[in-house]
Amino acid sequence: MVHARVLGVAQDAGVPHVGCACPRCERFRDAPLLPACLGIAGARCYLIDATPALPQQARMLPSFPAAILLTHAHMGHVAGLWQLGEEAYGARGITVHAPEGVCAFLRGNEPWRRLARSNLVLAPLAPGAGVELEEGLHAESFAVNHRGGETFGYFVEGPSRRILYLPDIDRWDLDLHALLARCDLALLDGTFWRRGEIGRQVDVPHPPIEDTLDLLSPEEAAKVRFLHLNHTNPVLDPDGPAALVAVQGDTIPL
Ligand SMILES: [Zn+2]
Ligand SMILES: [Zn+2]
Ligand SMILES: [Zn+2]
Repeated sequence: MVHARVLGVAQDAGVPHVGCACPRCERFRDAPLLPACLGIAGARCYLIDATPALPQQARMLPSFPAAILLTHAHMGHVAGLWQLGEEAYGARGITVHAPEGVCAFLRGNEPWRRLARSNLVLAPLAPGAGVELEEGLHAESFAVNHRGGETFGYFVEGPSRRILYLPDIDRWDLDLHALLARCDLALLDGTFWRRGEIGRQVDVPHPPIEDTLDLLSPEEAAKVRFLHLNHTNPVLDPDGPAALVAVQGDTIPL
């Protein structure tokens, strides 16, 4: 069955967060939440984003990913590419679809430059462009505002459903209602629950879940599962706020 699988639900650094011993991080010590990542399984398998946990996440799919789509070039979204190099998987031409600026960054900077030359086939993608992953399985990019770097969200469409994957955005300065109208399920940036959740939040803008829910009708909210959760987010607690969060390991039929 063609499906997507939620391979990680945490912010780039995972939960527990490096160097943190807060009660929430301690609770996840033995069963970590991996950085946000979506697997897609059809005749072949695909990943959206290459997180530092790529080895574990690839094992959650029926076969090793044949291609990867990248949202942007931050640590939790590209660091796993390193696992495709000679020291590890030794990929021979895995296609990496990514925004043009991200491809240029990977081509121009070590340690990615060597990978880009020997192990990856970089396929620059324009905002709004589609990728036919295989017959009946299609991805489509759209541009989002995120720290001034080129960043995409993706629609993924299988034979029966279309889902939206958008782990990082600074604020809702695009038409969220129109995006939700185009999909059956949306995995959205839920990094923080509320404004001011961490002291330096102005440096790491994300729309807090509380504010996002205020924008949505009940029908829209029912389609949304939040992910890219920071270790400070109380939705991770058993008695935390009632918001629909994505569950690591969940399978979504496509
Ligand atoms: Zn991120
Ligand atoms: Zn913590
Ligand atoms: Zn980011």
